[in-house]
Amino acid sequence: MEYYSTKQPDFTVSMREAVTACVPQAGGLYMPSALPSIPKAFIHNMTDMSLREIAYATTNVFLGEDLDSSEIKSVIDKSLSFETPLIEIGHDIYALELFHGPTKVFKDFGSRFLAGLFSSLRRDAGEKLNLLVATTGNTGMAIARAFAGRDDTNVFILFPHGAMSRRDSSLIARSGDNIHAIEVAGSIDDCKSMIAEAFADCRLRDGLVLSSANSTNFARLMPQVALFFYAVGRLRALGVSTGDVDLAVPSGNLGMLASGLMARRIGLECGSLIGACNSNNAFDRYLKTGVFEPHATIKTYATLMDMASPSNLPRLMALSNNNLDLLRRDVRSATIGDDMIAATIRSVYDTTGYVADPHTAVGIAALGLRVNSRRPGLVFATAHPSRSSAVLSSILGKDVVPPGDDNDIRSAAHPDRLPPTYPAFRKYLLSNQ
Ligand SMILES: *Cc1c(COP(=O)(O)O)cnc(C)c1O
Repeated sequence: MEYYSTKQPDFTVSMREAVTACVPQAGGLYMPSALPSIPKAFIHNMTDMSLREIAYATTNVFLGEDLDSSEIKSVIDKSLSFETPLIEIGHDIYALELFHGPTKVFKDFGSRFLAGLFSSLRRDAGEKLNLLVATTGNTGMAIARAFAGRDDTNVFILFPHGAMSRRDSSLIARSGDNIHAIEVAGSIDDCKSMIAEAFADCRLRDGLVLSSANSTNFARLMPQVALFFYAVGRLRALGVSTGDVDLAVPSGNLGMLASGLMARRIGLECGSLIGACNSNNAFDRYLKTGVFEPHATIKTYATLMDMASPSNLPRLMALSNNNLDLLRRDVRSATIGDDMIAATIRSVYDTTGYVADPHTAVGIAALGLRVNSRRPGLVFATAHPSRSSAVLSSILGKDVVPPGDDNDIRSAAHPDRLPPTYPAFRKYLLSNQ
């Protein structure tokens, strides 16, 4: 299947190119040119299927023309190999826990799938792949874990100074010789633009094979599409009326929300998709006013969603014929500030004993703000509470979750440091081949 660039719709490439090169040189994001529907009969039978069985079918939509089904199956079996419990956390309100992977954040799905798919697509490739990632936290960890020790890939993880705990940055720095942790003296938007400049640098791309593991890479979204079908299938198995179930998506770069809209476009039936933002709410304001106006990044309790300018907005627009009113038919949005995050964590804990992490709480609160909040709702629980144990114990006034396991820090490893400029990054890339 061909993939086109959102910036230049008549520029198309193969699936292989879209996944491995992943960012069109002229900017924009790759999207599949055709969207075949999942057969109704399949959707009807979903109630009995595992996530992996569902993912074979939904991923086949994007890869099936170009990759053997046995290959696709093996990528899925290896990467989507952890539990996804569904918990009822209120009357007709459910949480699908996506945080039981190795780094305890839902990004394990996309990162592990991407690593598996790269192996499969690049088995005979001669040159090394250089994977560039900009992150404020967990994407870096998930990607480092998924790619550590692979001698066909160099991974460059850029994060803003102060965004990550010393523990996390040193875990990434020492996760493997092929993993480069780079602390940038700037913001996440500086990190993203350093990477964008590398992709736009023709001379650099003549000599180096570059790819990105950010959710700008469409392959990251592929397994996430399956999560939406799976969530609805699980609810249907419980007897929930899923035609009007609203699905709340804690959102930062909008990769997960774009996956949900993609699921809808290929046949998933559900209520609204809700893009639940923290105070970094350029998307919510855009949906409400039609004006896209990112502000400077604000630090919130839901740190992994602290993204001023969401990279996947062009994909949501492309899935809506670039028509904001069409987007508004399927997608709603809400802004949940830190006070409301804290109040939600408290009230969910007081009424049910469930400990929601701050990212998940953004989604739960967004379900509570619906005009018709009697409809069933599901939130994707995106991070394990132990990732935010300090915030949670300050909100709840007691220790309710163990802190993340940092007992495997033995030797200190430090990230490298760079100024927030492209020439410095270019030089670093070239000297680490
Ligand atoms: C990345 C992340 C999100 C936001 O996902 P996007 O696809 O970037 O919108 C939400 N919650 C957690 C815990 C995350 O790590």
